[in-house]
Formats: sequence, structure tokens, C-alpha cells
Amino acid sequence: MWNRIHHSYLSSVSVAFLCLSILAAPITSGAQKVSSTSSKPRVLVLAVNGAEWDLLRPLLIRGELPNLKKVIENGSWGKLRTVSAPNCPKVFSTFFTSVPPEQHGITGFVVDGETANTNMLKSEPIWSLLSKHGVTVGMANVPATFPVMPVNGYMISGMLTRGKGCEDGILCSPKLSEVEGGDAVYPKSMIPELEKNVGDFLIDCSRMPNMEDLKGKEAPEVNAWLDGVQKIRDQQTKLFEYLLTNHPTDFTMFDQSCEDRVGHWLYPIQPYNVGFDPKVNSVRPDAFPNQYRALDKVLGTLLQHVDENTYFFMISDHGIKPLREFGDTHGHMSHGLTPSTTPVIAKHDYPDPDDVPGAFIAMGPGIKKNHELVGWVASAFDIAPTILHIYGIEPPPQMQGHMLTEIFESGAPSQASSLHAQ
Ligand SMILES: [Zn+2]
Repeated sequence: MWNRIHHSYLSSVSVAFLCLSILAAPITSGAQKVSSTSSKPRVLVLAVNGAEWDLLRPLLIRGELPNLKKVIENGSWGKLRTVSAPNCPKVFSTFFTSVPPEQHGITGFVVDGETANTNMLKSEPIWSLLSKHGVTVGMANVPATFPVMPVNGYMISGMLTRGKGCEDGILCSPKLSEVEGGDAVYPKSMIPELEKNVGDFLIDCSRMPNMEDLKGKEAPEVNAWLDGVQKIRDQQTKLFEYLLTNHPTDFTMFDQSCEDRVGHWLYPIQPYNVGFDPKVNSVRPDAFPNQYRALDKVLGTLLQHVDENTYFFMISDHGIKPLREFGDTHGHMSHGLTPSTTPVIAKHDYPDPDDVPGAFIAMGPGIKKNHELVGWVASAFDIAPTILHIYGIEPPPQMQGHMLTEIFESGAPSQASSLHAQ
């Protein structure tokens, strides 16, 4: 069992540090709004649940994802190898710890009859390692971070947060003010500030409608649900923008979770695909690609806070593909949950993880530009070791991934190490 940090003083230290940062922030010109004065490397990670290259690539070619195009042209990109029968909590906890699910303990949405939560983590996560080394950490909406844990900065939970109308915390979205069964924000003192400046936002994406709700009113239900999804994304964007502007940290990680959910039941499938129901599937065939068009706008907002010295990563836990076999019992289940009657037409928990690779994109000082990683170069296990190396921190021995030397011009983040040594 790893030793968790319980630094009650972190909150006051962070506040003092932030006040100094804001006062000492240099006046930057142009669109850049980077205001951190830390001498440590700056890393920004945007995680996306279920980003699927089969959808991203055609949109990129058509010029409909201009911000993603910019990142790819200035970075290294490719598939991200995931774990067997991937799902969000399982893979994110692998991102955090670089050990397999059986070892970190988060083997799914539910573990031993209980919704997965951070108290079950058996291997030290990256936010704890970075905090211990004096790196400031900011995280928001990241799955499997509930209840939040103390960090050298702030943490706002994401998927699996429990609350009113979302008692089991699974694939639903409690409001910040309605969270139950644990803390969704560290430090707690940040809650009134967030409510005042961002609003009482919904944590995570909304629950998918069930078959009974849809019956006979498919089109209005689909459209209303999609409107709700966009509202959540707007709130998340406002939250990210607020945090980057007012609480800059050395390491920052945000997540978008609606893409995966839209894919599950509104993937643009054809009549010959498993589960095709014209009443649902012909309502908004643009729904899933639209998620990536909207994601690109979020990306554009974040890139306003990325300068040439910032390492930027966009990662996804897995892809998502239409169901393949008639009679697939998964057809009317969602994320392996019972009872669930959402008419699911695409999934990601295939036993062979290479059927549903995630996405990996990296850009920053010394990272190869316009460089495609062909084959299985990057894996979910490599995220934590690569980020630790950027900060000059040796990954602990239990970590099974490696630093992604392949993405760096010189084989290592040399510029970062020299920054770290200052
Ligand atoms: Zn999913």
C-alpha cells in the first residue's frame, strides 16, 4: 500500500503560492495567457473518453478539426495501446499508476460490489508522486478521482462522483452542490469560489436514456439529450478556462467524458450494423462526429494557454467500435451494467485491446513534429513514466511502462531536465 499524503497545510500553501503567482505574473502579449512563474516544466493533459481515430481522421482530412490539426502538425501522434476489455476507470487508473488493473485494484466500474473509488487504489498515482516532488498539480473532471485526494494544488473529481440522482456514481452527473458520499473538490475552500465564478456545474456527462424513455418519442429525446451534453461541455470549458487563468499549475489534467457516451448509442451506423434502429439511429447521424467538432473547440480554448514551453498531451483510454455480432448481449447494456436498457450500438470492452486503441498526441519542447507513431509505440502504461521524466523524477520500480523516448528529438526531454535543474 502506498503512503498517501495528507498535507493539511497544502491548501494554505497553495493559496499563498497562487496569490504570489498572480501578482508576479508577467504581462504576456498576444493570445497567450500563460501566467505561471514556476521554473518547473509545464504539462497540460487533455484526456478524452473513447476518442476514436476512425471518426477523427476523416474530420481532420476535411479540415473540420483545425485545432487538433495544429497539434498533430506540431507533435507526435498515433494509437495508444490500451488494456484488455478496456473501460474508463480501469484505463485511467493505469494512466495514473502504470500498473495493470489487477495490481492497482480498479478493475471496472464496480469492484467487489462497490462503485470504484480512489480509496481502492493500491498503487501510488501520479498526482501523489508529483505533489511529493513539489510539482503543483491541478486536475478537473478526470474519471476515477472520487473522492478527491489531497494534492499540491487542486483536484475536482469526474466520472464516478456520487450524488443526488446519481447514488451509484455510474454514468450520471450530480451537480457540484449535490455531491454525496465523499469530497468532489480539494481543497474544500475552493467550492464557494467555483460556485461563484463557474456556477453549480454538473460533474461528468449525463446518463443515457433507457428504452422506455425513448419509445415513441425517439427524435425529441435524442435531441434533448444532445442539447444537455453540449451544456455540460460548455460548463466544463468554462471551468477549464477559469482554472487555467486563475489557478495555473505545473501539471494540469482535464477530461472530456461525453464523447464516449454519445458513441455508445448514437454512433453513425448503417442498417446492416448490429442493433440498427431507424427510429433512433436516423435522427442525428451527425451526433457523434459533432462531439469531435465540439471537442476541437474545447481544445482551441486550452491551446490559448499553451506556449512553446508547454508540453501538451491529448490521450484517450480506448476507441469505440460498432457492435459486430447479431445476438450480442451487449446490445442492450451499457458499460456491462445491469439493469441497463440503453440501446447501445457500439462498445469498447472487446477482449482484444488492439481492436479499440486509444489516441495519443504529444506536442512540446523537443517533441518531434508531424511525426506519426506507427504500430504499438505508446501504451496506457507509458503516460505516467513519460510525465515523471519530464519533471526529472525517476518512476518508481512498480511502474511497468517506459518513457516514450520515441517522441523526443534527442530521445529524452532534455530541455525539461535543464529547466528542472535551475
Ligand atoms: Zn464507454
